[in-house]
Amino acid sequence: MYIGIDVGGTNLVAGLVDESGKILHKASCPVDKSMTAEELTRQLAKLSLQAAKEADCPLSEIQAAGVGLPGLVSNKTGMVIKTTNMPFYNTPFREIFQEDLKIPVYLGNDADCAAVGEYWAGSAKGFDPALVITLGTGIGSGMVRGGKLYIGHGGAGMEAGHMIIHPNGVRCGCGNLGCWEQYGSATALVRLTREEMEYNRDSLLWQLCDGDTRKLEGRTTFQAVRENDATARKALDRYLEGLSMGLINLVNVLFPEIVCLGGGISNADDDLLLNPLRELVHRGSFDKDHLPRIERASLGNDAGVVGAAMLCNMF
Ligand SMILES: [Zn+2]
Repeated sequence: MYIGIDVGGTNLVAGLVDESGKILHKASCPVDKSMTAEELTRQLAKLSLQAAKEADCPLSEIQAAGVGLPGLVSNKTGMVIKTTNMPFYNTPFREIFQEDLKIPVYLGNDADCAAVGEYWAGSAKGFDPALVITLGTGIGSGMVRGGKLYIGHGGAGMEAGHMIIHPNGVRCGCGNLGCWEQYGSATALVRLTREEMEYNRDSLLWQLCDGDTRKLEGRTTFQAVRENDATARKALDRYLEGLSMGLINLVNVLFPEIVCLGGGISNADDDLLLNPLRELVHRGSFDKDHLPRIERASLGNDAGVVGAAMLCNMF
């Protein structure tokens, strides 16, 4: 048995996971914003113990725990180097965690855990190299190669969301201009939709968001495209162009056997997202005889817990 911990900005989840990557039980709690990094780490150990106890699993049967965090971590040193919107900063996570729970602990970032989860038990199972891209506020990416996670020198590898695709493009949170996530994330689709709406006051999109563009979500654009709104179509085409540009770059560098797309956006109908993307990526691919499959990730929010639990097999 394994424990997988998913540290999100609003929720902490610890799951008991078996060898096949199946979640047997989950315990969760909201993030207490007043907690220090040390307090949060101890709370995660407590939550892990709670998950095991509620599932009647003795601690002696738990072989390892893994944790996925939003930020930069070092599995080698057991340190959480920095996180987004969380207090972890040069935190000796493993050391603190093991004071309360004496089992091996592995560290990964959330995008890497999502990749491991899909590779172990989701739609990337059986494919290698497997590339998993999560489209959310930003773009998360992780790759499994030769059955192991590719993290690069130091552990910050595969930050594909910060690959620059437009010189002098939109400013990214990382400080650079024109990063892929500014054109391919869920946030980017909303931005592009807003831009197009400004030129088209009669677009259906204005009705769908009650005249308030702050209410726009990625799915609003897809809904309007379904209803043949030309403005939404234009925004979606621009989005597909940006998203595919990054994917083409990745495919031509890595030639994965599969690319799995996760995040809320990936739930869009195939004819609006996956099929046009397949066509664009295949068109831009250097080797037409080894085109990767492009599929939807299948574990949803559970990918983080499953992937964290399986980190022990991935280094
Ligand atoms: Zn960036």
